[in-house]
Amino acid sequence: MRLDKYICKSTELNRTEAIDVLQRRMVKIDNKVFTAGAVQVYGNHRVTLDGILLKLRPFRYILIHKPANTLSSNIDESHPSILNYLDVNKKSELHIVGRLDADTTGLVLITDDGSWTSKIIRPSAQCEKVYRVTLRDELTDEAILKLEQGLMLKGIDEPTLPAKVTVLSSNEVLLTITQGKFRQVKRMFRAVGNRVKHLHREKIGQVSLDVELGQWRYLTSDEVDSFN
Ligand code: URA
Repeated sequence: MRLDKYICKSTELNRTEAIDVLQRRMVKIDNKVFTAGAVQVYGNHRVTLDGILLKLRPFRYILIHKPANTLSSNIDESHPSILNYLDVNKKSELHIVGRLDADTTGLVLITDDGSWTSKIIRPSAQCEKVYRVTLRDELTDEAILKLEQGLMLKGIDEPTLPAKVTVLSSNEVLLTITQGKFRQVKRMFRAVGNRVKHLHREKIGQVSLDVELGQWRYLTSDEVDSFN
């Protein structure tokens, strides 16, 4: 890792401040002063700032209950970003693991650990996501069969992987899918002639939503490890 990044990831300093302490000759690697941010730091190096040993902050793993009309994005655009709901430092280092549409509510995972994210979202992981879906029309047995067997989506030349459908009431179902194509759930119901009125994600892998709307918490280590 670059030395300037190492300083940012082990202190509260931002990049400009990291460059400043480097230029002021306050940073040493193995007792030798370095002033260039591009210098590489390796695992066996001892980096100090003003004589104090720097240790990398551990990765952060967060679960949040996304309200409607918020964006699964790091910036506010048409709606505010869900990152506004977090009271943590260095939000710009965080990213969202698997986006939801602005009008979709429910479970969103947030982290600064890119390799953990790829374990969840890479297609070969086939990580299960459970959605509670409120529909415009009652779901027919024929439509359920199609969803369960896999169906063709516009613009994609392979059928969706088999999904699990649990009927909760005449217009509400739980849908479990193992893919994450763009607007997949809404497109799947459209493909069987129905429409999604409201979409809510309840679960990703073993992690279930258990906080109130707009609230968040850190994942337990068992939850973090459950994606390995
Ligand atoms: N599928 C959708 O259509 N929208 C979402 O927000 C998530 C999955």
